[in-house]
Amino acid sequence: MTEAHNDILNSFRTVLVIMAHPDDAEFCCAGSVKKMSDAGAEITYIVLTNGDKGNHNLSITVPELVKTRMEEQRKAAAMLGVKEVIFMGEEDGFLEPNRELRRRLVRHIRRIKPDLIICQTPELYFRGDNYINHPDHRNAGLATIEAIFPAAGNPMFFPDLIAEGYPPHSIRELWMCMTPEPNLRIDITDLIDLKIEAVKQHVSQFDDLDRLERWIRERWGEEDEAGRRRYFESFKRMSFGD
Ligand SMILES: [Zn+2]
Repeated sequence: MTEAHNDILNSFRTVLVIMAHPDDAEFCCAGSVKKMSDAGAEITYIVLTNGDKGNHNLSITVPELVKTRMEEQRKAAAMLGVKEVIFMGEEDGFLEPNRELRRRLVRHIRRIKPDLIICQTPELYFRGDNYINHPDHRNAGLATIEAIFPAAGNPMFFPDLIAEGYPPHSIRELWMCMTPEPNLRIDITDLIDLKIEAVKQHVSQFDDLDRLERWIRERWGEEDEAGRRRYFESFKRMSFGD
């Protein structure tokens, strides 16, 4: 496994993070995003669903919940130096990697022209013996990958978008989080406090923020040989050349 050095993190000018739900990006890659924005990269988030199932409190209406989750996501993104958050408004829980979603993603990829896209892996159904991965996470990854290849870089796909002013664009690297087989990890020990604060911006999603913080510090950390706690974000990294 490669441990990312600054030359990797500093090599991206434009980064697009595509996730299923508000809060996914903070869990997946908040520390990495902050490192890249500090190095001068322009970062955009795309949140595919509106997060309208992320609640167990029946007294709040769906439009209120959607608005709250957008505000929480914008606050978290701002802490990490993200330039823009785009909400695609798909229904939470029913995300489908269909032709229309592919077209919408290709449009954004061709417009934003990222060198790096970060998304969720479509591979993960289960982890351990007590975690079923949310289907939106898998489908967000699948929709993103299918937009990247073969569509975004191929002029035969969606020529109407070219006529609109969005020529084909091929990315340089793809990083997928939640992967069972990471080949890249980024040491975010120096940013773990900020990452936790960014996750905690999603107030509507957690009953007990202190318990959440304890869980993150205990579950995610690992001790090095000197007994110091270190934190990492891990990815499957694919490189496609320039
Ligand atoms: Zn999620």
